Amino acid sequence: MTKKRVIGIAKLLLIGVGIFFLVQHFWPDSPEIPGVNISQVLQLAQDDQIRKIEVSGDFLKILTTDGEHYSSRKETGVSILELLEQSGVSTGGIEIEVQEPKLTFWGIFLPLLPMLLFLVLIIYMIRRSRGALSQMMNMGKSQARDVSENKPDVTFDDMAGAEEAKQEMEEIVEFLRFPEKFAKLGAKIPRGVLLSGPPGTGKTLISRAIAGEAEVPFFAISGSEFVEMYVGVGASRVRDLFTRARAAAPAIIFIDEIDAVGRRRGVGMGGGSDEREQTLNQILVQMDGFDDRTNVIVIAATNRPDILDPALLRPGRFDRRIILDLPDTRGREAILKVHLKGKPLAPEVDIQNLARQTHGFSGADLANLVNEAAIMAAREGSSEVEFLHLAESIDRVIGGPARKSRKVSEKEREIVAYHEAGHALVAAQLPDADSVHKVTIVPRGGAGGFTRLLPEEDRTLFTKGQFQAMLAVMMGGHVSEEIVFGEVTNGASNDLQKANGVARKMVTEYGMSPGLGPRTFEAGPAMLASGKESDLGYSCSDASAEKIDVEIGQLLLKAKETAAEVIQSHRSKLSQLAERLLVEETLEGEELQRLLDAPSEETPLAA
Ligand code: ADP
Ligand code: MG
Ligand code: ZN
Repeated sequence: MTKKRVIGIAKLLLIGVGIFFLVQHFWPDSPEIPGVNISQVLQLAQDDQIRKIEVSGDFLKILTTDGEHYSSRKETGVSILELLEQSGVSTGGIEIEVQEPKLTFWGIFLPLLPMLLFLVLIIYMIRRSRGALSQMMNMGKSQARDVSENKPDVTFDDMAGAEEAKQEMEEIVEFLRFPEKFAKLGAKIPRGVLLSGPPGTGKTLISRAIAGEAEVPFFAISGSEFVEMYVGVGASRVRDLFTRARAAAPAIIFIDEIDAVGRRRGVGMGGGSDEREQTLNQILVQMDGFDDRTNVIVIAATNRPDILDPALLRPGRFDRRIILDLPDTRGREAILKVHLKGKPLAPEVDIQNLARQTHGFSGADLANLVNEAAIMAAREGSSEVEFLHLAESIDRVIGGPARKSRKVSEKEREIVAYHEAGHALVAAQLPDADSVHKVTIVPRGGAGGFTRLLPEEDRTLFTKGQFQAMLAVMMGGHVSEEIVFGEVTNGASNDLQKANGVARKMVTEYGMSPGLGPRTFEAGPAMLASGKESDLGYSCSDASAEKIDVEIGQLLLKAKETAAEVIQSHRSKLSQLAERLLVEETLEGEELQRLLDAPSEETPLAA
């Protein structure tokens, strides 16, 4: 219940109680007179002691010959005269006065009480339903906020490491503000711009920055807000949104998370898709309805451009694509600088080093990293954010907070130590694998420990050999457990899952399997509907699907063999690493390098 409504009801109650007391106060009360029952009255009458009876309704007021007053009641529907006569009293000597039944307060109020309560209830219900009704009437109205009125104080300066995207966005603002410039040359301004990129790369951020800088009305809505509760709402919301934007032109419409409505039509099961399709259709219709002079640009953002309906992407709709990718080392450095600005930073902090260590971090991860470090510094009562805090936060963002208090048995620590040492050893020995940056057996999140590799440079292309090395490193932990303890634990399940994912991509997307060759396999409807890659459901023959499975299995087995070879031929180095880990818990930097580089004094075991 809203606060306002509670106050409303309280007021109503207060007024009711007030009236009650007021009426009761001024109601003419009869003075207290003793009551007797009807048989006593008849007795008095038989004794000739009654001078007068006043009848008002069923109430009797009796005046005795002694001048005393009594009150009494008779049965409803029986006349007092009859009663007296029946009991053999001559009524001649008794003066009987019949009065209009007197109105007593309770006599009126009590019968009315249920009605009053009912009335209050009805008023309350009407009020409520009026609220709901007006909500229902407004439902078709889009909830898009015109954010240009209270501009977000985000600017392009808050966005780093995405210079191309920023330029493209600035160009769009230009289109809107100086349309003549482009019209003169016969250029059409774009209708729609699709921002795509992994989560946390700043899609929402850049569009908020545009709202701040564009100096045109900016309507923002999230895809999920279109599809709520009632069927048919989405489409009318779209209509309303576009109408408002057109009236305010030049304007920008921003649809965040458009994949919520823009999924490919005709796949998917279940009733929800109809509503989505109608909403999507309406977006298409509205965008087609723009004529060449309509000065409205629609910007949409998604992290799943692959599942969008092709109709959205055809020319005349979202034909401009701006891709926001995970930042490279320089980008990460710039983003870190943006977020570290205004925070007291210890002079020894090497931002470049941090940027190198945070391969694969998105802008959001980096923002989170800096924030965690600041919190940690504050908690420790430090006056500056130190390198230590930032380094610890990297691990935190990757693996969750360290759980130093977790009780781990000696045996378990040993297993984890050998597991991580296995990863590290395989990575160090395979020339195609990245170098090892840090190994630790401090439990973090759900994991007992981790081994972090440091990619040499920003790389987007990987050779088959590099993928194979990657798989072997992932297998390193599992294999080490098997070789050292003769048994494996469930601790490797995450590694295996990741390895399976990589192998699957190698086979179905990268054409890296000898058996299937350069074929790629598209996701079938079942996979598209669930959005999960693990679901089988490639659009290919059953025979091919079987081959995919076989090929994946072979890649993984081969990786396991490679790992086993490395570990068996460096068995003593594995033990050294594990022993060191058990003592120090974390190995990194020079010490780790020294351990890994030390020559194996052992001759390879007969494998
Ligand atoms: P998404 O792409 O998922 O919409 P957001 O725009 O919501 O990501 O980004 C979340 C947060 O991450 C932002 O508020 C910002 O603090 C940070 N961030 C993301 N990308 C960048 C970037 N390129 N520069 C600076 N900060 C960024
Ligand atoms: Mg977003
Ligand atoms: Zn592992």
